[in-house]
Amino acid sequence: MQNLGYYNGKIGLIEEMMIPMNDRVCWFGDGVYDAGPCRNYHIFAMDEHLDRFYRSAGMLDIRIPLEKQELKALLEDLVKKVDTGDQFIYYQVTRGTAMRSHDFEELTGNLWIMLRPASQGNIYAPIRMITTEDTRYFHCNIKTLNLIPNVMASQKAKMAGCQETVFYRPGGQVTECSHSNVHIIQDGVLRTHPTDNLILPGIARAHLIRKWKELGHEVREEAFTLEELFSAEEVLITSSSKLVCYADEIDGKAVGGRQPELRKEILDALLEEYLTATK
Ligand code: PLP
Repeated sequence: MQNLGYYNGKIGLIEEMMIPMNDRVCWFGDGVYDAGPCRNYHIFAMDEHLDRFYRSAGMLDIRIPLEKQELKALLEDLVKKVDTGDQFIYYQVTRGTAMRSHDFEELTGNLWIMLRPASQGNIYAPIRMITTEDTRYFHCNIKTLNLIPNVMASQKAKMAGCQETVFYRPGGQVTECSHSNVHIIQDGVLRTHPTDNLILPGIARAHLIRKWKELGHEVREEAFTLEELFSAEEVLITSSSKLVCYADEIDGKAVGGRQPELRKEILDALLEEYLTATK
């Protein structure tokens, strides 16, 4: 198949799948999701993504209709049906199907899966970013489908000819980006926002931290300001679909580029880890 859509056991091309109007996602965006890359038919970091998926659902009392191991086996089976082994793997669970009402009965969740061809971008190509105030709510640690501020921020970057938008809270504390986490290197130390309710605990972020420590460098999980972002030695961005990359311009001003060896060391190591795991 060119791509694959799955809804509660039904399979078809994504463009042809039909979803019941009373799926609560249509009325409320009532669901959570997770996503990551697949290369050579090997789903990367699948256990970490599934753990976060079940955690997100659990925090909202949403019932995933399959046990974690059953979903893992299903995903492994479905990826084989797609013509190419390099794919973007996306799954979501919505609270269930019911007439529109804010409150809900005990429902069984609806499971959606979407697989489409995709390959890793070039992590060595720098990106340009803009900044915007983070007007999101205080549950950014849960990977919900309520992504309107992220959608608008992403579009704002596109309209500015950039690839990402950095969010900051009033006062200038940097949180994350519209669909990735942002980190800085300062004095050879990696600084990254702690995993509280203001950011998504990114899987690629966790890989960056682990690898950085393995390489013998220091990590400080503490928030940094816009000022520190602009004066950082390097600005790194992580997300599962891109893995990692770096920025060389924010709001039209040059940033980073002052620790190229260190930057190359961590990019090489993360790419190597990914290529080895998906050989
Ligand atoms: N932050 C936000 C808001 C995201 O949407 C994402 C990815 O979708 C990330 C961070 C990066 O998370 P991960 O590394 O798990 O892909």
